[in-house]
Amino acid sequence: SPYVALSSSDSSGKVWELEGDDSISYFIKKKLRVWCRQPRGQWELGMIQSTSGEQAFVSLSNGNVMKVDRSEILPANPDVLEDVDDLIQLGYLNEPSVLHNLKSRYSQGMIYSKAGPILIALNPFKDLQMNGNDYVSARSQRTMNSPHVYAIADAAYNKMIRDEVNQSIIISGESGSGKTETAKIALQYLAALGGGGNCAIENEFLQINRILEAFGNAKTSRNNNSSRFGKLIEIHFGCTGKICGAKIQTCKHSRVVQLARDERSYHIFYQLCAGSSSDLKEKLNLRAVSEYKYLVQSDCMSVDGVDDAKNFDQLMEALDAVRICKEDQELIFKILAAILWLGNISFQVDKENHIEVVEDEAVTSAAQLMGCSSQDLMTALCTHNIQADEDTIAKNLTLSQAIERRDAIAKFIYASLFNWLLDQVNKSLEVGKKCTGKSISILDLYGFQTFQKNGFEQFYINYANERIQQHYNRHLFKLEQEDYELDGIDWTKVDFEDNQGCLDLFEKKPQGLLSLLDEESNLPNASDLTFANKLKHHLHPNPCFKGERGRAFRVRHYAGEVLYDTNGFLEKNRDTTSSDYCIQFLSSCNCELLQLFSKMFNQSQKQSVATKFKVQLFKLMHQLESTMPHFIRCIAPNTKQLPGIYDESLVLQQLRCCGVPEVVRLSRAGYSTRMTHQEFSRRYAFMLSETNVSNNPLSISVAALQKFNIPSEMYHVGYTKLYLRAGQIDVLENTRKQIL
Ligand code: ADP
Ligand code: MG
Repeated sequence: SPYVALSSSDSSGKVWELEGDDSISYFIKKKLRVWCRQPRGQWELGMIQSTSGEQAFVSLSNGNVMKVDRSEILPANPDVLEDVDDLIQLGYLNEPSVLHNLKSRYSQGMIYSKAGPILIALNPFKDLQMNGNDYVSARSQRTMNSPHVYAIADAAYNKMIRDEVNQSIIISGESGSGKTETAKIALQYLAALGGGGNCAIENEFLQINRILEAFGNAKTSRNNNSSRFGKLIEIHFGCTGKICGAKIQTCKHSRVVQLARDERSYHIFYQLCAGSSSDLKEKLNLRAVSEYKYLVQSDCMSVDGVDDAKNFDQLMEALDAVRICKEDQELIFKILAAILWLGNISFQVDKENHIEVVEDEAVTSAAQLMGCSSQDLMTALCTHNIQADEDTIAKNLTLSQAIERRDAIAKFIYASLFNWLLDQVNKSLEVGKKCTGKSISILDLYGFQTFQKNGFEQFYINYANERIQQHYNRHLFKLEQEDYELDGIDWTKVDFEDNQGCLDLFEKKPQGLLSLLDEESNLPNASDLTFANKLKHHLHPNPCFKGERGRAFRVRHYAGEVLYDTNGFLEKNRDTTSSDYCIQFLSSCNCELLQLFSKMFNQSQKQSVATKFKVQLFKLMHQLESTMPHFIRCIAPNTKQLPGIYDESLVLQQLRCCGVPEVVRLSRAGYSTRMTHQEFSRRYAFMLSETNVSNNPLSISVAALQKFNIPSEMYHVGYTKLYLRAGQIDVLENTRKQIL
């Protein structure tokens, strides 16, 4: 193949081994630009002056001349391909060329680019004024056609109307890369289009986002507004293309009781403490954030540029907007305050070595807010009822068991509150029975993660991403083939990494990672170490799995190898929060919502965390299966959340994680340039003399190609488009430049 592949397995790019017009001597003769790797790994543009053996002398743009190994040089693209908005247009597809292209565009505020069918979105970390009503109308009227989220949403909407097929917009990326913002932009566009000039729907979506973010988002070290749940928003349209309802589903992970440095718990706790009226504060016996143990442990109580009090006012408006009545709002706040007080409850050991609750303001406040007596709450926290024949015997808990129980109750209440709120939101969005049209789903799910140490959370997040990747492969590769077939091109299949092996490693029964985890979680004497040993015993040999020393193991994911540490896996997987004592206790409380929560709980929630997650994931994937997907891959150009910083190695790593190199390679393996006959003839017809100009674009294209001696193996004429192999467009452009 005439280009250098951007390979996911080979970080160095490939050695220059091109022939003919792409050989080094050709580059020297024609004074063409090359990429030259610097000692610190970054790439600089330069020109080869001479070669001697395996070495070359390259003059860099800063005037210096460098002696480098040939293997450190890669061909650069000609000027005409500078800033192309689709990576597949690049003649040479090596890493420096791709990185340079994205960087150059980013520095000019062009954060969106295409990689074949995928939209790549680089997080600008500042408002670029690219969204809003003017842009919506420009997009929907096609007066703007550069890559943009709006263009993706527009394509989805039109395909839905035209083909009557459900569509989906699948957004993925690392934490902080801009998924949730991108989802909002897509939603805003669809609301504007499907709202038919009526802003009410746009406004309702905005309010709902406020609620979900207040209760579901938190500050982390990577993102001040990090969603702690994945979500799928399904927007239903009537036959005329107007929105007639929506539904939101989520996949969650929890954070109330344990925080790391620089992190906060859910925004709502800080908003409540900062923004509630003195009247409400009194009712809830509410204190400052700094007085609650669940909130102070991370030493991070405020976020730069965030006004928690103002956000609380907006939240109350949003709750009004989804028709949650004032009484229910007060109940919500009561429950939140109860959770905060629960966290302040402490324990002591009495003379007989029994554990007991310290009777202080924390217990009395929590009990009062939950609608039970302090005594009942203390009993619930310190004892465990065991059924023995006819009798129930109360057994004392140990200190660590009591702490675990306190935190489990807090977590259970919070998770139930979130689910209940989601139900209310969905009720307000309810899809009318008369709605017979199609839908567009927007998926905002945490992307592939890899750190030095990876735990349970990374484990199931990366598993979810394997599933999404498979969905993506199937559709993309199928689509690509269809495009060729439709245009009458003989298509020899291009291989792509199939990730079925890795999915099997996770899902196989009874000996896949998930089953083995559940099995071990149910054994009384199991530990993280016995779990790790079990994996090594049962999963060896498997090309996607490698046991490591101690508690560790490795998985070969589509995006690279990840080392997992099983520390905490069993405990996190056994969901202690949904145990019967929680339900029993809440049902005895004199609080409408808490009683409701105890009833909302059903048996399926008793599953392990991993199984529950898998069930949720399967539901989401099943729903996506029947849709036509559109992909957006978000990329964070830096981890500081600052504008203007483009960290090349960070970008490269993310491009690999989302399989961009693979897609580009595939798109390029065939014909790198595609132009409709109209486009092509408009640009190159001038090369023909008057006499052989017909007015049929296809004939003009063919005539131009022949006139300029493009070898026939270098192009293919499809019914609608002209397909050119890599480099050919440069030849035409050079000729064009010389003539004009
Ligand atoms: P993710 O959901 O991928 O974790 P977010 O969507 O929450 O990331 O984005 C993180 C932050 O980056 C946002 O709070 C915002 O400050 C900034 N950001 C993301 N996308 C954009 C955008 N298109 N324009 C401006 N700022 C953005
Ligand atoms: Mg998010």
